[in-house]
Parts: sequence; C-alpha cells; structure tokens
Amino acid sequence: MDVDVCIVGGGLVGLAASIAFARQGRQVKLLEAFDLKQADPAELDARSIALSYSTIQIFQSLGLWQGLRKYAAAITDIHVSSAGHFGVTRLKASDLQLDAMGYVIEYHHLIQNLLEAAEKEPNIELMTPAKVISVQQNNTFVTLQYDFAGNPDSLNAALLVAADGAGSSVREHLGITAETMEYNQAAIVTNVKIKQPSTGCAFERFTADGPLALLPLPNQRYALVWTNTPLRTDALMQSSDAVFMQQLYRKFGYRLGLFEQIGTRVRFDLKLTRASRLTAGRAVLIGNAANSLHPVAGQGFNLALRDIGVLFDLMSGRDLYSDQLQAQLELYQQKRADDQNQAVTYGNGLVELFSNNIPVLSHLRAGALAALDLCPLIKQEVSWQGMGYGSGCSSLMRGTSE
Ligand SMILES: Cc1cc2nc3c(=O)[nH]c(=O)nc-3n(C[C@H](O)[C@H](O)[C@H](O)COP(=O)(O)OP(=O)(O)OC[C@H]3O[C@@H](n4cnc5c(N)ncnc54)[C@H](O)[C@@H]3O)c2cc1C
Repeated sequence: MDVDVCIVGGGLVGLAASIAFARQGRQVKLLEAFDLKQADPAELDARSIALSYSTIQIFQSLGLWQGLRKYAAAITDIHVSSAGHFGVTRLKASDLQLDAMGYVIEYHHLIQNLLEAAEKEPNIELMTPAKVISVQQNNTFVTLQYDFAGNPDSLNAALLVAADGAGSSVREHLGITAETMEYNQAAIVTNVKIKQPSTGCAFERFTADGPLALLPLPNQRYALVWTNTPLRTDALMQSSDAVFMQQLYRKFGYRLGLFEQIGTRVRFDLKLTRASRLTAGRAVLIGNAANSLHPVAGQGFNLALRDIGVLFDLMSGRDLYSDQLQAQLELYQQKRADDQNQAVTYGNGLVELFSNNIPVLSHLRAGALAALDLCPLIKQEVSWQGMGYGSGCSSLMRGTSE
C-alpha cells in the first residue's frame, strides 16, 4: 500500500483533514489540482470566514489556533435585524460567559496558515498540481489515477477522503449522486473600511432580496457578504464605489457610521449541493463535496470541521486496513446525519423566511426577532447552535492541546 489516507482537494477542508489525520500518526497524501505552491495567497479568494466557537476549539486541539489568532477578529455580539421592520435580536458572548462567540478571518490567511501547517507535517505529502482522473476500489484498497504536473501517476490508499468541492468529480467516480437547489441568489463579497474602531459586533440583516452580513475584521474593517437576486447583483457589481456605498447605506443604515473605503467586489452564485450519501466502500465525502450550503448562516466550513472531528474519533486507534473500515464509515454517516440536516434546514429556513416581502412572513419575522430578543433561554439555545454545539461533540471540540 502506498499510503494510509489519500485526501483529494487541498481547499480549507482537505488541508484541515490532512493535518488531523497526520496528528493521528497516519501517512497522508494530499492531491490538489491547483498549484498551491505557486499561487499568491492574497489572490486566492476575497471571502472571509466566520469561525464558530466549536471550530476554534478544534483548531486549538490541532495546535493551529495560536498561528491564526493574530489574523482574526473576535465576534463579541451578533445583531440580527430585518430591513423595513421593527424587531431586533442581540446575541452576546458575555451572556454565555464567553469572550467571543466566534472569530472572523480572511480566507487567504486561513488557507495560507493551514497550508504552512500541512507542509511542516512529516506525515503529509502534498502533491500539487495533482488532478485526480479516476477512482477504483476493492475490499482492501482504493486506487487513484491522477495527473501530477503533466505526468500520469497512480496510488493505492486504505482510506480515500474526497474534499474536492461542490462539483466533486471523486463523488461521481464513486457513483454517489448529488442533489442541487438553486437559490436564485448571488452574493457580493468585499471588505469595507470604517472610521471608528470595530466594536466586535457582527450584523446580520435580512432584506427582501436576500440577507446581508457585515462581520468584524482586524484594522477597522468589516467583511461584507451581500446576497441579492442575480439581476440586482449584476447591477451592484457594475456600479461605481460611490453608488454601491449609497445602496449599502439604504439597506444597512448607518449603524457603523460612514464607510471610508470599499475593496474589490467578488461575486459568488449560490446554490445548495447535497450528496445523497457520505460514504462508498473505503471512501468518504467531506466539506463542500458532501454539503455546499448557502453562506447566510456562515456554516459550511464550520460544519465540515465538525465532520472531521467525528471522523477523527471514529478512526482513532482503528486499523484502516481492516475490513471493518466500511462499517466505521457507515457509522460516520449515521452520526453526522442530524448535524448536517440541521445545518441545511436552518440555512434554508433563514433564506425562505427572510428573503421575501410576503406580508404575513414579514410580520412573522419581525415578531420572531422581537420575541427571541425577550427570551434569554431560547436566545442561549440559538447562540449555542450557531456556535456549533447543536448536535453531538467530538474529542477535538474539547480544544485541549494549546
Ligand atoms: C461567500 C461565502 C461566504 C462564506 N462564509 C462562510 C463562513 O463565514 N463560515 C463558514 O463556515 N463557511 C463559509 N462559507 C463556506 C466555506 O467557504 C466552504 O464551506 C469551504 O470553503 C469549503 O471548502 P472545501 O475545501 O470543501 O471546498 P473547496 O474550497 O471548493 O476546495 C476544493 C478543492 O479541491 C480541488 N479539486 C477539485 N477537483 C479536484 C481533482 N479532481 N483533483 C484534485 N483536486 C481537486 C480544488 O482545486 C479545490 O482546491 C462561505 C462560502 C461563501 C461562498
């Protein structure tokens, strides 16, 4: 056998999974189609990622948080509102006796840090650019054919972890179907500079065209994720900075004062992709290859890290070469069903309830926000769910190693 674990896809999820498996003493090969070593990390992606409290705990367990903390801004409060209606909910870390409910970090800092950590692991062989072309398996191993820097190659692994994104070709090779649902929405992602120091408050504002989130970043900046219909997104993408800011004030108001500067705008088309199963024989799907969600609740990466936490526990101390592996992966599928279903239902529920102007629903959402604000117990429950403690726990979520 060439390797214990082969991970396909060196995005956030594949990199995090490779580090977790390496810490378990497994020999890991990570195949990434894109040439990660040549890429300028600042150019990779403009988005920022809200890291839930459970994700921070997992990073701590893997010894990664210290390196990431200096690039991250704490979320101390979350302010949820609906444009054109009364009714606001404020969730506070201090109500839960915590310093922060989560943190926000720019994608390029996160991926660069994970890449450096993976490169330092003696148990990880990072192969980039390496594009997987075919996958076959029998009862004892999986065989992958791939193109490595223009040359055909192959390897055998005891366990295959597919982290090759929403359009996963490994998923197809494994014969796992996926269901997609168009939201008829697109997101504009950019950063805005504010005049006063950030308070640590994250804002989630629901508008008839879609949700708008402003998340605190270091250096008096906020990360904007603004969801709209595709048509309105086109118009906003083409508008000047001054017009864009005016439109933003109209939807968000002046809660953060005047914006000083606005960064490059990047567009993401949004759809839900869900694999019909998470496993096939000796292979397992994680990250966007398993579930690619609407960014409204900032859940995709956080959910994937909780998946990695559970997979880590189920594989701990196990012989990956044994014919019991398939049964362990079946168990993984069962254990992750509730959390994954909840994340999808919660995200879809927010999109459906809040992205429209139907009068009954708009009263309902205003009422729901006001009522939620008055119910400390429900608020705490919502906060813990959002922080990644809704369904199940793993040893990595105890966050003990740093
Ligand atoms: C606007 C926006 C905001 C978001 N905000 C948040 C947030 O605040 N919090 C949160 O938790 N999540 C958030 N998400 C979701 C999060 O970004 C994703 O869940 C996460 O990036 C998924 O990572 P991944 O590694 O699974 O997939 P990807 O990033 O798609 O990586 C897949 C990798 O596989 C490689 N690959 C593909 N095919 C092959 C092949 N055949 N061979 C080898 N390699 C291959 C690709 O090159 C790629 O590098 C957001 C998403 C969006 C769009």
